[in-house]
Amino acid sequence: MSSRNGHHAPSEFPPPVDSVKEFIKHELDSEDERIEVGVAIVGGGTAGLACANRLLQLLADDPETMERLGEVPVAVVEKAKTCGGHNLSGAVMRPKPLEELFGELSREQWREQGFAFGEVTKEAVYLTPTSKLSVRIPTPPPFKNHGNEVISVSALARYQQQQAEEGGAYILTETSATQLVVEDGRVVGVRSGDKGRGKDGEPLGNFEPGTDIKARATVLAEGCWGHLTGAAIREFDLAKDREPQVWELGVKEVWKVAKPLDRLIHTMGPWPLKVSSKYGQIGGTWIYPMKNAAGEDLVSIGFVVELEYADATTSAHDLLQTFKTHPLVREILEGGERIAWGAKALPGGGYWSMPKLSMPGAVLVGDSGGMVDTMALKGVHHCIKSGMLAAESIYESLERGSQDLSGYEQAIEDSSVGKELWEVRNARQPLQKGLLLGGPLSGLQQVSKGKLPGRADWHRNDEKPMFVGDTKDSYVKPDGKYTFDKLSSVFITGNATRDDAPNHIRIQKHVPREIAETWRWMCPAGVYEIPEDAPEHGDVDVIVNYTNCVQCGAITAKGGRLTTPEGGDGPLYQIL
Ligand SMILES: Cc1cc2nc3c(=O)[nH]c(=O)nc-3n(C[C@H](O)[C@H](O)[C@H](O)COP(=O)(O)OP(=O)(O)OC[C@H]3O[C@@H](n4cnc5c(N)ncnc54)[C@H](O)[C@@H]3O)c2cc1C
Ligand code: SF4
Repeated sequence: MSSRNGHHAPSEFPPPVDSVKEFIKHELDSEDERIEVGVAIVGGGTAGLACANRLLQLLADDPETMERLGEVPVAVVEKAKTCGGHNLSGAVMRPKPLEELFGELSREQWREQGFAFGEVTKEAVYLTPTSKLSVRIPTPPPFKNHGNEVISVSALARYQQQQAEEGGAYILTETSATQLVVEDGRVVGVRSGDKGRGKDGEPLGNFEPGTDIKARATVLAEGCWGHLTGAAIREFDLAKDREPQVWELGVKEVWKVAKPLDRLIHTMGPWPLKVSSKYGQIGGTWIYPMKNAAGEDLVSIGFVVELEYADATTSAHDLLQTFKTHPLVREILEGGERIAWGAKALPGGGYWSMPKLSMPGAVLVGDSGGMVDTMALKGVHHCIKSGMLAAESIYESLERGSQDLSGYEQAIEDSSVGKELWEVRNARQPLQKGLLLGGPLSGLQQVSKGKLPGRADWHRNDEKPMFVGDTKDSYVKPDGKYTFDKLSSVFITGNATRDDAPNHIRIQKHVPREIAETWRWMCPAGVYEIPEDAPEHGDVDVIVNYTNCVQCGAITAKGGRLTTPEGGDGPLYQIL
């Protein structure tokens, strides 16, 4: 098939995957071949572990129900080497849900535990009209962060893991859940993935087959674009009458700095993005002060871009590197040293894009359920709250001997999660028309706090026709000291994917150049390559260096599919 620049959208080249056929298993293995647990939680991030901890708190006061759940009342299945290893966030957190979850722990103790770095007392928001200029503006409502706490979600997940283990949870790290087990229209557990397969799927010397994990209730807490969540949404038609989900991609670095930053900083562009709606670029940045265990001053800096853009050469990684050359940033980072890098996508559709949150035998929590307010870039507190509410609904149903989990939906709707997301339900959609056209409309929606009626609609990110534009021409050349290329960045994530692991990325490999360029520039880990001798126009063959993948999930939004790699593969984030 030949192509014209700007003619094709990624959705015309869907990935070779049939999620229901491949990722739903219709019969549990026999009793002696499977593990039985009370509640299985897929994903040991903030949401899944909040669910585990809340459930264990409730069960601790009810030994009878605990007893009925058997030897393993709560199991958490996490694909990273340790909980926290695959978690990344900005992360300024609204504190209330975490205060509710660990009521006995003060905020001072959060800091002593090493996952929190202080309350926000000062903040500033800037426009960056050019590569040299910055203009401070009054803080718009979504950026008001007084009283919030700067944290590290990877460190918080490690703390939550420790608490859950002390409470009696069985945490299976380095384990991917690869299939959802559905019997007679009800989720009855999950299957863990095989380990020790070679490039072509052949069993190697250390091969270990996966196991069915039977559970009375299953919680899908897989974060952004969950593998089983996607299959469940199709199997149970959970996205019926909802808007499609849309996505953003964030790249983050942590720097050790010479002098402490005394405030939170956000910038709203337009530089280094293009203002013209032709490019479809919307994004922004953050710079937050942090500390490490030794009390040294750090800053978290990141760039988030909506995956709605049309210029195939848009690269969140390169935009962040370029942004660091702005004098506003240089002044903060100069003389410092980069100590961490990571990338992750987040769901941006908000209220209207949230799928139905329960199905027979299972519920969705956190990013799996799309519970993020991307106007304010806030999801952590919703993840914690939804995990807690899921635990309470599951506990009530176990106590009653019922299997009905549908009460969870209403609990979310009535909670701070439902209320906050309702207020900004129509605020981001206007931005799909570009910053100039959509900005004022979006502002109006925010100021009205959801009082304006109506339901604004979305289109999917992969339906946007792509063109090979000139955004790439403005990227800085990495110097290896202050600005970095993708591969040296992946290197510092501790990425431990085996060179002979099977490929977990599904894409069509023979595609028009603008689609291949989209993937090449978008991937923060440099996974997609176009051969140097490929034709300038027309179709090209894409090379997939999947062992570099940091499992950010962006490819799933723009025409491909991230499936679960072997447990233990991927990055090992410590402070992101
Ligand atoms: C760049 C960026 C900046 C952000 N900034 C902020 C901010 O400043 N403030 C804020 O409040 N929110 C912010 N957010 C949003 C917030 O970080 C997320 O909403 C939240 O961290 C998601 O938590 P989660 O537990 O739902 O998912 P995750 O943290 O993604 O956890 C999911 C876990 O499940 C595991 N997993 C997934 N699938 C499987 C499987 N099949 N088998 C086994 N394990 C599996 C993953 O390895 C992971 O550990 C930001 C997000 C991003 C990406
Ligand atoms: S290959 Fe991996 S790191 Fe690259 S975009 Fe896809 S999911 Fe993200």
